[in-house]
Amino acid sequence: MDPVPITYAVPPPRQPTVAVAGESARFPVRRIYCVGRNYAAHAREMGGSPEREAPFFFQKPADAVLPSGERFPYPPLSSDVHHEIELVVALHGGGAGIDPARALELVYGYAVGLDMTRRDLQHAAKQHGRPWEAAKSFDHAAPCGDLAPAARIGHPRSGAIWLDVTTAGGSARRQQADIADMIWSVPEIIAELSRLVVLAPGDLIFTGTPAGVGPVVRGDRLRGGVDGVGEIAIEVS
Ligand code: MN
Repeated sequence: MDPVPITYAVPPPRQPTVAVAGESARFPVRRIYCVGRNYAAHAREMGGSPEREAPFFFQKPADAVLPSGERFPYPPLSSDVHHEIELVVALHGGGAGIDPARALELVYGYAVGLDMTRRDLQHAAKQHGRPWEAAKSFDHAAPCGDLAPAARIGHPRSGAIWLDVTTAGGSARRQQADIADMIWSVPEIIAELSRLVVLAPGDLIFTGTPAGVGPVVRGDRLRGGVDGVGEIAIEVS
């Protein structure tokens, strides 16, 4: 029997995508996962402890991706929006209960992203024992640069991760670390996350930010990178 073609009662939403460096084909985004705390110095600056507790995760909506070079609209209901520069992992495979020794086989490539955060709403959520949803999952909250396929760049285990912010007063390096400083490695993150949910092609994982997070204001230009992976640049508007 032929399958009945699907029709939609309202126009279907567009498929969110991320560009692939050097290719016309784009990476379709299924889900965006983020690691909550993965660099010791950032855990300390947020008032936490950098011990190697199991990583924790939250999500952003897939359509929160914002390409490099775009304007990031300052979100409503916050006066303390922070930058968090992060290495992003893109999956072309999936599954549950993944063995860390095989996790990198699932990785399509890597990008540089910004886990934009309404810090004031996050503090309020923590105080009241509420979810981080409003702090993390807003429109355009996941700027993500072009993906570099692992087939081309391999699987980076070290390399500088950095973020410069240019304000009216000049440019300053706000975040600087090395991805080798991550508490949980990429294979460990994939394995741990796959114990919670079934991973699938199209999933992005933001792997946590190093120290130096701070506020942005309208007019700021952010440029960050991970050596050997790529860069991202956005302007706050
Ligand atoms: Mn983050």
